[in-house]
Amino acid sequence: MNKFQVLKKYFGYDSFRQGQESLIDSILNGQDVLGIMPTGAGKSICYQVPALLLPGITLVISPLISLMKDQVRGLNQAGIHAAYINSSLTENQISMALTNAGKGQYKIIYVAPERLETYSFLEFALNAPISMITVDEAHCISQWGQDFRPSYMNIVKLVSKLSKRPIVSAFTATATTNVKEDIICVLGLANPNVLVTGFDRKNLYFEVKAPKKKDEELVSYVKEHQGESGIVYCATRKNVESVYELLLSQGVRVTKYHAGLTNEERKVNQDAFIYDDKPVVVATNAFGMGIDKSNVRYVVHYNMPQSMENYYQEAGRAGRDGEKADCVLLYSPQDVMINQFLLDNKEVRRDMEEDEIRAVKERDVQRLRDMTYYCTTKECLRSHILRYFGENVYSGCGNCSNCLTEYEEIDVTDMCIQVIKAILETRQRFGINVIVGMLRGERKAKLLSYRLDELQNYGALKEVSESRLKQVINEMLIKGILQATEDKYALLKCSEKADEVLKGSYRIQMKISEEQEKKRTSQKKRTSDVLTSKGMDLFERLREVRAGLAREEALPPYIIGSDKTLIDMCIKLPFTKEEMLNVSGIGENKYHKYGQQFIRAIKEFMNGEKEQLYFEPVHEEAERNDSISLFDKPEKRNKKKENFRLTPEMTERIVYLPECTITELSNQLNKLRDEKTMKKTSGAAISRMLISRGYLEERFIDGIWRKVILEKGKEIGIFPKVKISEKGNEYEVLFYSEGAQRRVVEMIKEEVLV
Ligand code: ADP
Ligand code: ZN
Repeated sequence: MNKFQVLKKYFGYDSFRQGQESLIDSILNGQDVLGIMPTGAGKSICYQVPALLLPGITLVISPLISLMKDQVRGLNQAGIHAAYINSSLTENQISMALTNAGKGQYKIIYVAPERLETYSFLEFALNAPISMITVDEAHCISQWGQDFRPSYMNIVKLVSKLSKRPIVSAFTATATTNVKEDIICVLGLANPNVLVTGFDRKNLYFEVKAPKKKDEELVSYVKEHQGESGIVYCATRKNVESVYELLLSQGVRVTKYHAGLTNEERKVNQDAFIYDDKPVVVATNAFGMGIDKSNVRYVVHYNMPQSMENYYQEAGRAGRDGEKADCVLLYSPQDVMINQFLLDNKEVRRDMEEDEIRAVKERDVQRLRDMTYYCTTKECLRSHILRYFGENVYSGCGNCSNCLTEYEEIDVTDMCIQVIKAILETRQRFGINVIVGMLRGERKAKLLSYRLDELQNYGALKEVSESRLKQVINEMLIKGILQATEDKYALLKCSEKADEVLKGSYRIQMKISEEQEKKRTSQKKRTSDVLTSKGMDLFERLREVRAGLAREEALPPYIIGSDKTLIDMCIKLPFTKEEMLNVSGIGENKYHKYGQQFIRAIKEFMNGEKEQLYFEPVHEEAERNDSISLFDKPEKRNKKKENFRLTPEMTERIVYLPECTITELSNQLNKLRDEKTMKKTSGAAISRMLISRGYLEERFIDGIWRKVILEKGKEIGIFPKVKISEKGNEYEVLFYSEGAQRRVVEMIKEEVLV
């Protein structure tokens, strides 16, 4: 057999995904590998396929007991002999497993790293034909990683003890350079093929919302997605309890998970979720490690997490089957305070020196700041995430809430000045609600009792809406112009930067959505986008069949077959063995175990006749996803404006000026477009492109992101100019010479800018 045959026969897939083939080829040529791929990319196949083709046994070192169990069940379902050895087994079971392993009964054996030290295991390993050692979650070997595991050091010892050095393959989703180098060095990988695939998860839709009423927003979201599996993450146990009660009271089939429950409760609840008895779980971040449920259709964060690392890992639990899924973050400025509180009370390791503690704290604060930035930026969320993880991206993705909302960049300096004046006039003794109320001249009892209505700035921003004013104040908090005290009152204080603003030496631009609260109506339900209503009925029927099989076998339904596999059945309507083997995810073993039952159900449902139960894809971007892109189409169906593109006709009509700012250039370009069919571009989008191409750089200086001109930028004629504000203070603006404008236009022609 070759690798393609193995992929088809055991796993039921027709082709490899990006990166898989290269790693598999290296392994089969005897080379060590390090695969760095995001969750859901398909790392397992990279070692499971070669494990079946190599002569001996593959040992997989994995830190997560539940994951091992899942993997082994999955492999056994696919007809592959595999076993796991970890502390969830009794001594008897372990020695039985080792005896069987010694007899060569398993091709793949999963072990916990602690096991490698034990005598009985070593005795087995030293006498067995081990072809490959696979290190899963390999970042655990790095001191730099977040979850360093000392027991991972045992792997190195084991490799050195074996008489013949096996191939070593390592996999992780952590991409930082330190961790990567540590893995290669500590594991002693010999001239490895190091493959880093992009971190992008194209099937995930990212959204940040700052709803006035989180509870209502959450309930309506969950109800809109009824029947779908989802995780709702909360920052604290208390939040978990109240959100759980809330959803329960709304009739949602929901369970909960946090460290305050007993082991037994946690297990029962987790199983209820995994087996789809309760498709929704409300949990703290204690939940999810080692959970491999592939059909999670959404991950909602009820509170902002503490870092982008945490966020991407947690959100990444959605859509592991490659189908469309949502990652929604419900943000409120209070979250920043909750997190600050959690960080302040975080336990520090006893053995740390004072400097270390300080360094860790600083890092935590920086991480929180980055996270806050994500929640409030108006730029493409996906690009922001990817840039955070070190990838060079610039144009908008078209599949996140910011890309789907049109923003306008406005100067809010005057408003900021008013806010600062109001805060100073009230001697920095109030929080955001009072300040907003005062500026808007509201006649609330609280304001009147403090006699704020007698002050000069009372009613100074009467015409500005409450939500707009709050947005501006948030922006000021992010930019460090204001600070909020960390107690529960969150009083607004002015920082030194507020002086600069008052003096007029610091102007504040801000992106504001053109239509407030614009709803994303275009993103329709997924399965129903692909299947007709009759198709949906069949899908439901097949889900029932799957649930029945799952009960009989005491397996989670997704191990029998993923949603994607069932949908592919609804599309292909297999009546014969050949046709069934053509369904994505149905390998020979799955066919033998369950194929006939599904065929029977399909035939019965269709009365033996075939008819098309799906909508023809009308989608120009069908190849964007490497797997079958069944769900890749929702937004495009509705007539949406296309992204900004510079056509030859537009280019001809551009008027170049002796010098101008990037906003002036983008304004001109926007006027040239057909606004009915094309979205706007913006100075920010163009700057982003220039950043990615190395003309500019964004640096975080004094609490704000400033654009700095790099060598390449100077060469084409971008230059800074000092401007004087009305008040007579200096500030810097980037200007583009005529030559620079022409170069930038040439670049834009090659791009689709959002
Ligand atoms: P990771 O370990 O990288 O998080 P998994 O190995 O769990 O990802 O794979 C995620 C999902 O993708 C699984 O459901 C797996 O069966 C599926 N998958 C992996 N490789 C392929 C492929 N070549 N074609 C189709 N599906 C695949
Ligand atoms: Zn985007």
